[in-house]
Amino acid sequence: MTDIQTHEHDVVVIGAGGAGLRAAIEARAQGGRVALVCKSLLGKAHTVMAEGGAAAALGTVIQQDNTRVHFRDTMRGGKMHNNWRMAQIHAEEAPDRIRELEAWGALFDRTADGRINQRPFGGHTYERLAHVGDRTGLEMIRVLQDKAVHSGVDVFMECTVIKMPVASGHAAGALAYFRETGRFVLFAAKAVVLATGGIGKAWQITSNSWEYTGDGHFLAYDAGAELIDMEFVQFHPTGMVWPPSVRGILVTEGVRGEGGVLRNAAGERFMFRYIPAMFKGDFAETEPEADAWASGDRMKNRRPPELLTRDVVAKAIVKEIQEGRGSPHGGVFLDIASKRPADFIQRKLPSMYHQFKELAGVDITKEPMEIGPTTHYVMGGVKVDAETQMSTLPGLFAAGELAGGMHGANRLGGNSLSDLLVFGRRAGLHAARFAQQHGRPPAVPEEDVGAATQAVLAPFERTGGENPFAVQQALQALMQAHAGIVRDQTGLERALPELDKLRRRAARVSVSGSREYNPGWHTAIDLWSQLTVSEMTVRAALERRESRGAHTRGDYPDQDDAQARIQIVLKRDGERMTVRREAQPEIPPDLLKMIKEGA
Ligand SMILES: Cc1cc2nc3c(=O)[nH]c(=O)nc-3n(C[C@H](O)[C@H](O)[C@H](O)COP(=O)(O)OP(=O)(O)OC[C@H]3O[C@@H](n4cnc5c(N)ncnc54)[C@H](O)[C@@H]3O)c2cc1C
Repeated sequence: MTDIQTHEHDVVVIGAGGAGLRAAIEARAQGGRVALVCKSLLGKAHTVMAEGGAAAALGTVIQQDNTRVHFRDTMRGGKMHNNWRMAQIHAEEAPDRIRELEAWGALFDRTADGRINQRPFGGHTYERLAHVGDRTGLEMIRVLQDKAVHSGVDVFMECTVIKMPVASGHAAGALAYFRETGRFVLFAAKAVVLATGGIGKAWQITSNSWEYTGDGHFLAYDAGAELIDMEFVQFHPTGMVWPPSVRGILVTEGVRGEGGVLRNAAGERFMFRYIPAMFKGDFAETEPEADAWASGDRMKNRRPPELLTRDVVAKAIVKEIQEGRGSPHGGVFLDIASKRPADFIQRKLPSMYHQFKELAGVDITKEPMEIGPTTHYVMGGVKVDAETQMSTLPGLFAAGELAGGMHGANRLGGNSLSDLLVFGRRAGLHAARFAQQHGRPPAVPEEDVGAATQAVLAPFERTGGENPFAVQQALQALMQAHAGIVRDQTGLERALPELDKLRRRAARVSVSGSREYNPGWHTAIDLWSQLTVSEMTVRAALERRESRGAHTRGDYPDQDDAQARIQIVLKRDGERMTVRREAQPEIPPDLLKMIKEGA
């Protein structure tokens, strides 16, 4: 280990998106030394891509909104599978976190009387998303990054963590390499916060960037922590479908929030036919009522069915396409041009306007967009304690998209950005407290470091092996085909031996060139995370024999209420992935009544 650079901190935070930054700020505020390690440049995390906004019951637009309604919407959106305590904490603390962000310098869009403006989004009863046009994530990252740097957090950029060593039964830090030089670095720490985001790059059609290879899920699993809910992968209803080079890029739900409607090839506004029993009575049943709501008459009319939860809208779109009512390139139409004036669209949705103009040659102020579902978000992740965000491995905390439980079987749009702030803060706080209670960082076993560095350097030792990108593409095709929006036992069972084959192929890839900025080598390393998270999704999806939220089984099309509170828990046992079912704590009767009958 003598040639490996070593740093010692109280807390090391892995990931510099909204969750990691907020955790680092809080841990630093407790007085300890904090390292923030990220795979890309600071400011380039996934959070920066977030468009529509952050959900918090501020009640600035509709005064009736409150944290109980937000909690209820989140539980109903998550199909009652959520960790109810996380959903409650989230709803209660989100308004303070948004106001805090504003106090730190975030410039949200304003109402006419100068308060934070809020826009409607799918599954939210009232206008609830604080936003900055359709570039909310950019503003959030800008503010958090400034705050973290000025708080004295030590930042290590373009530094990819490959292993989280465990010593004396505790998380003991992180082993990483710098992408620029390929050199290894060890962060010894008393507590670790993981905040590495999602897994969507394991599918072919995705809104996610190159970074979403599920590294944190793999690192936690490898270190011995439990993961939950990995069958719940969200397919966002609206991704671009044409031209092929941009397929999957997100079209924000903000388009529907600002009045956009969905139509099939016959021009029919089909969502009126897809209102599920759970939401009957909450949504407009005719076009005139939906249009009256969209024009601003919100208290007398119900919301348009385009604002149903994402799982419902995505499945409706798939059905329209399957039944032959799709658009020319295999999607359906999203139309805001016929509903809003051009200057409004350009002001409220500037990124969407440019995205379609530049990438597809479509002027969304004049023509409809062609859209279809795209892999977007993973509800599953590291199992954490609702109050502290500590995982089942002592000293390891998790927050953001990587942590499981909060969103249940389906996440509501806007609830991720507020989740990052609420639980990022809690993870940082409790990691710092954990560090204060423990003396020096536990000594990292030298043999673990040696074995890990040797394993990641192995592709350089081999010659004539396969290209890592070929294996990655084969994996994406496999997951798209067998673990996509609708799955069944036959397809999932077929995927398991195929994943084994891909593992064997991944073990034989070779790379050439040096260790400096070598994308082939980086992909060879990422493959291990991608293969592991893919296996998690396939095994958990096989185990859940019902359809719930984002998990749709063609062979078990109905929701089975007996399974609502059953969680699929995954854990490593040597080389084997174990799968078990566990009942979650019951929702307290007063809250259950409120969710069922109204807040
Ligand atoms: C296009 C798009 C639009 C969205 N719009 C919204 C929205 O409007 N509202 C909303 O609520 N949600 C939205 N989401 C979802 C939301 O943006 C994400 O869920 C959220 O930003 C995740 O934040 P995070 O902090 O968990 O992870 P990220 O922001 O992705 O950060 C992950 C960090 O981990 C680092 N990392 C990863 N692996 C490693 C490793 N091995 N070693 C070191 N560092 C590592 C990365 O470099 C990065 O810094 C959107 C998502 C997309 C893709």
